[in-house]
Amino acid sequence: MVITCKRCLYTENHALGIVFDDEGICSGCRIHEEKDSLDWDKRWTKLEQVVEPYRRKDAQYDCIVPVTGAKDGHFILDLVVNRLGLTPLVVSYNKFFNTPEGIANLANLRIKFNVDFQLKNVNPHVVKRISKHTLYRYGNMYWPALAGETVFPVQVAVMMKIPLIIWGAHQGLEQVGMFSHEHEVEMSRRYRKDHDLFGTEARDLTQAWSDVTDEDTLNYRYPAFSDIEALQLRGIYLGNYVRWDPLAQHLDMVARHDYQGRWQARTFDIYDHADCYAYPGLHDVLKYFKHGYSKVRDQASREIRFGRLDRAQAAALVSYYESREPADMDLLANWLGVPEATLKMVVNRHRNDRIWDEVSPNRWVRRPGTGAAEELEDIGGIPASQPELPWSQPGCSTHCKDAERKLITVGRGVKYPLPPPLPEDEGGYL
Ligand SMILES: [Zn+2]
Repeated sequence: MVITCKRCLYTENHALGIVFDDEGICSGCRIHEEKDSLDWDKRWTKLEQVVEPYRRKDAQYDCIVPVTGAKDGHFILDLVVNRLGLTPLVVSYNKFFNTPEGIANLANLRIKFNVDFQLKNVNPHVVKRISKHTLYRYGNMYWPALAGETVFPVQVAVMMKIPLIIWGAHQGLEQVGMFSHEHEVEMSRRYRKDHDLFGTEARDLTQAWSDVTDEDTLNYRYPAFSDIEALQLRGIYLGNYVRWDPLAQHLDMVARHDYQGRWQARTFDIYDHADCYAYPGLHDVLKYFKHGYSKVRDQASREIRFGRLDRAQAAALVSYYESREPADMDLLANWLGVPEATLKMVVNRHRNDRIWDEVSPNRWVRRPGTGAAEELEDIGGIPASQPELPWSQPGCSTHCKDAERKLITVGRGVKYPLPPPLPEDEGGYL
């Protein structure tokens, strides 16, 4: 029987590793308690002291801020630009599975925070080749995006000699309490390899029988240790100094900076991954097949800890969403250049047979005692229809599954509704 936390809905199967204390409470819930016990004013002062030596007087950039068209980009820039008064170089790795909202959010933050911005577009043929390889071999089609998002900022830092990168929250701390906030853990290549990349670094992709070449992996390689050491490069996490609360932050960004969410097929949270078709879709299904839980369990557990959902409400949401079909497999199959049925077959190959039992060809049932539906039913019942949330979710023009489905590889970020075009001599719109 798999152990489930008595407070949140995480089980011992969590991919990042989790431990339970004598009261049956998980390490993530215990570290979360620090959010209500630490003196956050004091921690903010500590942050100001940490960044002070990096302020430049020569009109150069003070730091690098990595963003995507969703998650915490707006909130991070609000802190870095408006509260800390730093001049960042904002960087983003283009994952190619962009939604219209994601592209609009990127344009919005460039304008609202008045920042310089660098976007990395890796050759799409290379990205497809690597995506197919990592999907087939490791059940992870999203490897290039995870690798690119975690290495491009480091490459730019080394290239432009900017010794400070400012990230949002640390996932290991937030989800499973891998560290205390007071450890002030910083970016490391080791964490990236072990957890962001599931143990697979760029060089591991070129083994025998792989059609990924050495050249294909160049954009995903970590800079040399000697370069990082010479620059004294640090990557700090704002979540160690600010009481990090993603939902409250998103609602604040919707209200103050026009951040946009997007309807999701597999979770109630329309803000976290509004920018991408793959991460909350196919990637999330693979997580469910391999580890027995999906993003909705992360988000529902988070909301229990913040006190916005009780355990029964959270369990009902998880049992409603966890086994939903992703909405956009056809878009991803089309992008990869494979039939949708082939993509589904490859995805099913990666079901973990300790969790799934193939009772007849192509029909799987979840093994009992694996944090399965009947356990969620014990906690929250099985809802017949989509459970209501106890809060409203503004900032989303697409409150239904009829949301515009248009996979944008490279978008300029024209905002909706279209403003009148600027005259040519002013450079046109965006
Ligand atoms: Zn817990």
